[in-house]
Amino acid sequence: MRAAGRVVAEMHESIRAAIRPGVSTLALDRIGRDVIERRGATSNFLGYHGFPAVICASPNDVIVHGIPDDTVLVDGDIISIDCGAVVEGWHGDAAFTAGVGEISEEAARLLVVTEKSLYAGIAAMVEGNRIGDIGAAVQDVAESAGFTIVEEYVGHGIGRAMHESPEVPNYGIPGKGGKLHRGMTLAIEPMVNAGSAETFLNEDGWTVVTADRALSAHFEHTIVIGDNGPEILTRP
Ligand code: MG
Ligand code: MG
Repeated sequence: MRAAGRVVAEMHESIRAAIRPGVSTLALDRIGRDVIERRGATSNFLGYHGFPAVICASPNDVIVHGIPDDTVLVDGDIISIDCGAVVEGWHGDAAFTAGVGEISEEAARLLVVTEKSLYAGIAAMVEGNRIGDIGAAVQDVAESAGFTIVEEYVGHGIGRAMHESPEVPNYGIPGKGGKLHRGMTLAIEPMVNAGSAETFLNEDGWTVVTADRALSAHFEHTIVIGDNGPEILTRP
Protein backbone atom coordinates (compact mmCIF):
# COMPACT_ATOMS: atom_id res chain seq x y z
CA MET A 1 0.00 0.00 0.00
CA ARG A 2 2.98 2.28 0.51
CA ALA A 3 3.89 1.89 -3.18
CA ALA A 4 0.32 2.69 -4.26
CA GLY A 5 0.30 5.66 -1.90
CA ARG A 6 3.47 7.01 -3.46
CA VAL A 7 1.94 6.86 -6.94
CA VAL A 8 -1.14 8.74 -5.72
CA ALA A 9 1.11 11.35 -4.06
CA GLU A 10 3.01 11.79 -7.32
CA MET A 11 -0.28 12.20 -9.24
CA HIS A 12 -1.26 14.92 -6.77
CA GLU A 13 2.04 16.73 -7.12
CA SER A 14 2.00 16.65 -10.93
CA ILE A 15 -1.65 17.69 -11.19
CA ARG A 16 -1.29 20.42 -8.55
CA ALA A 17 1.63 21.91 -10.47
CA ALA A 18 -0.56 22.14 -13.62
CA ILE A 19 -3.56 23.85 -11.99
CA ARG A 20 -3.83 27.36 -13.39
CA PRO A 21 -6.34 29.53 -15.27
CA GLY A 22 -6.86 28.13 -18.77
CA VAL A 23 -6.21 24.44 -18.08
CA SER A 24 -9.04 21.97 -18.70
CA THR A 25 -9.96 19.25 -16.22
CA LEU A 26 -9.43 16.72 -19.04
CA ALA A 27 -5.80 17.92 -19.33
CA LEU A 28 -5.40 17.28 -15.58
CA ASP A 29 -6.78 13.76 -16.07
CA ARG A 30 -4.18 13.19 -18.80
CA ILE A 31 -1.42 14.14 -16.34
CA GLY A 32 -2.79 11.60 -13.86
CA ARG A 33 -2.85 8.91 -16.55
CA ASP A 34 0.76 9.65 -17.47
CA VAL A 35 1.94 9.17 -13.86
CA ILE A 36 0.04 5.89 -13.55
CA GLU A 37 1.53 4.60 -16.81
CA ARG A 38 5.04 5.75 -15.93
CA ARG A 39 4.89 3.97 -12.54
CA GLY A 40 3.40 0.76 -13.96
CA ALA A 41 0.36 1.16 -11.73
CA THR A 42 -3.32 0.88 -12.64
CA SER A 43 -6.23 3.17 -11.91
CA ASN A 44 -8.94 2.20 -9.45
CA PHE A 45 -11.11 5.10 -10.67
CA LEU A 46 -11.14 4.32 -14.41
CA GLY A 47 -14.01 1.92 -15.07
CA TYR A 48 -15.25 2.03 -11.46
CA HIS A 49 -19.00 1.48 -12.03
CA GLY A 50 -18.21 2.81 -15.50
CA PHE A 51 -16.39 5.99 -14.38
CA PRO A 52 -14.58 7.30 -17.50
CA ALA A 53 -11.42 8.90 -16.02
CA VAL A 54 -8.51 8.37 -13.61
CA ILE A 55 -9.36 11.48 -11.57
CA CYS A 56 -12.51 13.08 -10.28
CA ALA A 57 -12.35 16.82 -11.00
CA SER A 58 -14.89 18.77 -8.97
CA PRO A 59 -14.84 22.56 -9.37
CA ASN A 60 -16.51 25.11 -7.08
CA ASP A 61 -20.00 23.88 -6.08
CA VAL A 62 -19.22 20.30 -7.17
CA ILE A 63 -18.66 18.29 -4.01
CA VAL A 64 -17.29 15.03 -5.46
CA HIS A 65 -17.28 12.73 -8.51
CA GLY A 66 -17.00 15.43 -11.18
CA ILE A 67 -16.07 13.98 -14.59
CA PRO A 68 -13.07 15.58 -16.34
CA ASP A 69 -14.08 17.37 -19.53
CA ASP A 70 -13.09 20.37 -21.62
CA THR A 71 -14.24 22.76 -18.89
CA VAL A 72 -11.48 25.33 -18.53
CA LEU A 73 -10.54 26.53 -15.05
CA VAL A 74 -10.67 30.28 -14.54
CA ASP A 75 -9.10 32.65 -12.05
CA GLY A 76 -10.93 32.46 -8.71
CA ASP A 77 -12.17 28.86 -9.11
CA ILE A 78 -11.47 26.15 -6.59
CA ILE A 79 -10.94 22.61 -7.89
CA SER A 80 -11.07 19.32 -6.01
CA ILE A 81 -8.97 16.49 -7.41
CA ASP A 82 -9.60 12.95 -6.17
CA CYS A 83 -7.59 10.03 -7.56
CA GLY A 84 -6.21 6.63 -6.73
CA ALA A 85 -3.81 3.96 -7.90
CA VAL A 86 -3.31 0.22 -7.54
CA VAL A 87 0.11 -1.44 -7.21
CA GLU A 88 0.32 -5.22 -6.92
CA GLY A 89 -3.32 -5.37 -5.93
CA TRP A 90 -3.05 -2.77 -3.15
CA HIS A 91 -4.98 0.48 -3.33
CA GLY A 92 -4.30 4.14 -2.52
CA ASP A 93 -6.87 6.95 -2.60
CA ALA A 94 -6.47 10.65 -1.82
CA ALA A 95 -7.92 14.05 -2.66
CA PHE A 96 -7.10 17.73 -2.34
CA THR A 97 -8.70 21.04 -3.23
CA ALA A 98 -6.67 23.90 -4.68
CA GLY A 99 -7.35 27.47 -5.67
CA VAL A 100 -7.00 28.58 -9.29
CA GLY A 101 -5.15 31.88 -9.52
CA GLU A 102 -6.44 34.40 -6.96
CA ILE A 103 -9.32 33.05 -4.84
CA SER A 104 -11.65 34.81 -2.41
CA GLU A 105 -10.86 34.99 1.29
CA GLU A 106 -13.88 32.82 2.08
CA ALA A 107 -12.79 30.17 -0.45
CA ALA A 108 -9.28 30.18 1.00
CA ARG A 109 -10.68 29.77 4.50
CA LEU A 110 -12.83 26.82 3.32
CA LEU A 111 -9.73 25.08 1.94
CA VAL A 112 -7.68 25.67 5.09
CA VAL A 113 -10.46 24.49 7.41
CA THR A 114 -11.29 21.39 5.35
CA GLU A 115 -7.65 20.28 5.25
CA LYS A 116 -7.35 21.01 8.97
CA SER A 117 -10.45 18.85 9.60
CA LEU A 118 -8.77 15.98 7.72
CA TYR A 119 -5.68 16.25 9.92
CA ALA A 120 -7.85 16.37 13.05
CA GLY A 121 -9.48 13.13 11.89
CA ILE A 122 -6.09 11.56 11.20
CA ALA A 123 -4.84 12.54 14.68
CA ALA A 124 -7.82 10.66 16.16
CA MET A 125 -6.92 7.51 14.19
CA VAL A 126 -5.08 5.76 16.99
CA GLU A 127 -5.29 2.29 18.43
CA GLY A 128 -8.09 1.96 20.98
CA ASN A 129 -10.08 4.90 19.66
CA ARG A 130 -13.30 4.34 17.76
CA ILE A 131 -14.63 5.35 14.33
CA GLY A 132 -16.80 7.97 16.03
CA ASP A 133 -13.70 9.70 17.40
CA ILE A 134 -12.49 10.34 13.85
CA GLY A 135 -15.82 11.74 12.69
CA ALA A 136 -16.25 13.87 15.79
CA ALA A 137 -12.78 15.41 15.34
CA VAL A 138 -13.47 16.25 11.67
CA GLN A 139 -16.91 17.63 12.45
CA ASP A 140 -15.70 19.82 15.29
CA VAL A 141 -13.11 21.61 13.13
CA ALA A 142 -15.49 22.18 10.21
CA GLU A 143 -18.56 23.21 12.16
CA SER A 144 -16.78 25.46 14.64
CA ALA A 145 -15.54 27.41 11.58
CA GLY A 146 -19.17 27.87 10.45
CA PHE A 147 -19.08 25.30 7.64
CA THR A 148 -21.18 22.16 7.15
CA ILE A 149 -20.30 18.48 6.76
CA VAL A 150 -21.61 16.40 3.85
CA GLU A 151 -23.18 13.29 5.36
CA GLU A 152 -24.20 11.24 2.29
CA TYR A 153 -20.60 10.47 1.28
CA VAL A 154 -18.06 9.06 3.71
CA GLY A 155 -14.55 7.73 4.16
CA HIS A 156 -13.85 4.01 4.09
CA GLY A 157 -11.57 1.12 4.77
CA ILE A 158 -9.09 0.49 1.94
CA GLY A 159 -6.67 -2.31 1.08
CA ARG A 160 -7.16 -5.01 -1.57
CA ALA A 161 -10.17 -2.97 -2.72
CA MET A 162 -10.63 0.78 -2.86
CA HIS A 163 -13.77 0.68 -0.74
CA GLU A 164 -13.79 -1.72 2.17
CA SER A 165 -15.57 -1.69 5.51
CA PRO A 166 -15.80 0.15 7.80
CA GLU A 167 -17.50 3.33 6.65
CA VAL A 168 -15.81 6.39 8.13
CA PRO A 169 -18.36 9.23 8.39
CA ASN A 170 -17.12 12.80 8.76
CA TYR A 171 -19.36 13.25 11.79
CA GLY A 172 -19.77 11.14 14.89
CA ILE A 173 -19.94 10.75 18.62
CA PRO A 174 -16.68 10.30 20.54
CA GLY A 175 -16.31 6.77 21.91
CA LYS A 176 -18.93 5.32 19.55
CA GLY A 177 -18.53 2.98 16.56
CA GLY A 178 -16.06 0.25 15.70
CA LYS A 179 -12.72 0.04 17.48
CA LEU A 180 -9.51 1.06 15.72
CA HIS A 181 -6.61 -1.36 15.80
CA ARG A 182 -3.00 -1.44 14.66
CA GLY A 183 -2.51 -2.24 10.98
CA MET A 184 -5.90 -0.84 10.03
CA THR A 185 -5.91 1.18 6.79
CA LEU A 186 -8.55 3.84 6.26
CA ALA A 187 -9.28 6.62 3.79
CA ILE A 188 -10.50 9.66 5.72
CA GLU A 189 -12.11 12.24 3.43
CA PRO A 190 -14.02 15.24 4.74
CA MET A 191 -16.28 17.00 2.24
CA VAL A 192 -17.04 20.43 3.68
CA ASN A 193 -19.55 22.97 2.34
CA ALA A 194 -19.53 26.74 2.71
CA GLY A 195 -23.35 26.79 2.68
CA SER A 196 -25.89 24.11 3.53
CA ALA A 197 -24.96 20.43 3.81
CA GLU A 198 -27.62 19.42 1.31
CA THR A 199 -26.41 17.65 -1.84
CA PHE A 200 -27.85 17.15 -5.33
CA LEU A 201 -26.90 14.49 -7.90
CA ASN A 202 -26.67 15.81 -11.47
CA GLU A 203 -28.33 14.06 -14.42
CA ASP A 204 -25.04 12.41 -15.44
CA GLY A 205 -25.45 10.15 -12.40
CA TRP A 206 -22.01 11.08 -11.06
CA THR A 207 -21.56 14.78 -10.35
CA VAL A 208 -22.60 15.65 -6.79
CA VAL A 209 -23.19 19.38 -6.23
CA THR A 210 -24.22 21.52 -3.29
CA ALA A 211 -28.00 22.05 -3.41
CA ASP A 212 -27.52 25.79 -2.77
CA ARG A 213 -24.59 26.04 -5.26
CA ALA A 214 -22.22 27.22 -2.48
CA LEU A 215 -18.56 26.15 -2.60
CA SER A 216 -17.41 22.74 -1.40
CA ALA A 217 -13.95 21.37 -0.58
CA HIS A 218 -12.60 17.82 -0.26
CA PHE A 219 -9.37 16.53 1.27
CA GLU A 220 -8.47 12.85 1.67
CA HIS A 221 -5.55 10.64 2.63
CA THR A 222 -5.01 6.90 2.93
CA ILE A 223 -3.62 6.22 6.41
CA VAL A 224 -2.39 3.19 8.34
CA ILE A 225 -2.33 2.85 12.12
CA GLY A 226 1.36 2.01 12.52
CA ASP A 227 3.51 1.26 15.54
CA ASN A 228 3.97 4.99 16.16
CA GLY A 229 0.40 6.08 15.48
CA PRO A 230 -1.22 7.16 12.22
CA GLU A 231 1.05 7.12 9.15
CA ILE A 232 -0.14 8.88 5.99
CA LEU A 233 0.57 6.71 2.94
CA THR A 234 -0.48 9.22 0.27
CA ARG A 235 1.42 12.31 1.43
CA PRO A 236 3.52 13.93 -1.33
MG1 MG B 1 -12.04 7.60 -0.87
MG1 MG C 1 -10.89 9.49 -3.07
